[in-house]
Amino acid sequence: MIRFSVLASSSRGNATVISGGGTHVLVDTGISALRIRKGLAECGLHDSDISGVFFTHEHHDHVCGLGVLSKKRALNLYCSRYLARDLRSMAPNALFTYLEPGQVVQVGALTVTPFCVSHDAADPLGYVFECGGVRLGYVTDTGIIMRGMPELLAGVQGLYLESNYDLDMLENSGRPPELIGRISGRWGHLSNTQACEFIRSIGHPGLQHLVLAHISPECNTPAKATAAMRTTLDALQLPTRLHCAQMASRLDWIEVQ
Ligand SMILES: [Zn+2]
Ligand SMILES: [Zn+2]
Repeated sequence: MIRFSVLASSSRGNATVISGGGTHVLVDTGISALRIRKGLAECGLHDSDISGVFFTHEHHDHVCGLGVLSKKRALNLYCSRYLARDLRSMAPNALFTYLEPGQVVQVGALTVTPFCVSHDAADPLGYVFECGGVRLGYVTDTGIIMRGMPELLAGVQGLYLESNYDLDMLENSGRPPELIGRISGRWGHLSNTQACEFIRSIGHPGLQHLVLAHISPECNTPAKATAAMRTTLDALQLPTRLHCAQMASRLDWIEVQ
C-alpha cells in the first residue's frame, strides 16, 4: 500500500508526503518549513521520520521551505544534478543523490522512477513511486504530455496530476501575452483540458484515486477543474475517486492499494 497526503498545492506552493512500507518521503518543499512541519504533525509524522525529499524542479513554489527545513538536520535530497547546484546553497548540510530520468532509486520500501517533464526549469522531473506492486504517478509543471509518459504511467493505481488553468480564464486574465504564452506553451503547465485528455489516454478501472493539483488561483478554480475531470471520468465509466488539492488546507491521507 502507498498512502499520500498533499500538504498544499497551487501555483503558489507545493508539498506532498508519500508513505509506503514504513518509509516516508516528501515531494517538494514549496511552502514554509513551519507549514510542512505542521502538516507532517497532522499526518502523525515528524520531520525526522522523513527518509528523503524528492524535487520536481527549482521554482520557488516547489523549493522555498527547504532552507529552514534543512537547518536542524541534514536531509537526504533527491534531484537532478543541475538542480542540486541551486539547492546546495539553500541546504549546505544536505546529502544529495542525483537522479537521471529512467534510473530507478530505492529509498527504504519505496522504489522511485524519475522521468522527464516539459517545463521552463533545469531538468524538471516527474515520478512514479512504487511499494508492494502499488504505483503512484506524480505529474506536475509540464506544458505537454511527453512521449513515453503514457506508457510509464499506464496502470498506476494513484495519480497526482497538474490541472493548472482553464484556457478561457487564462486568455481573459488580463495578463501580458508573453506570460499567457509561457503558461499555455510547451514548457508551461497542463490545462484542465490537457489533464482530461491525459486521463482519456491512460484512465483504467484500476485507477483508484486521482488528485488534481497545482490549480492556479487566478486562472482556474477547483470547481472548474473538478467538473471537467468528473465529466471525463463519468464518460469513461471509471470508478476513480476524484480529489482536488488546495493551497489553504491539507488533503488528508489517501490510501492506494
Ligand atoms: Zn509550480
Ligand atoms: Zn514550475
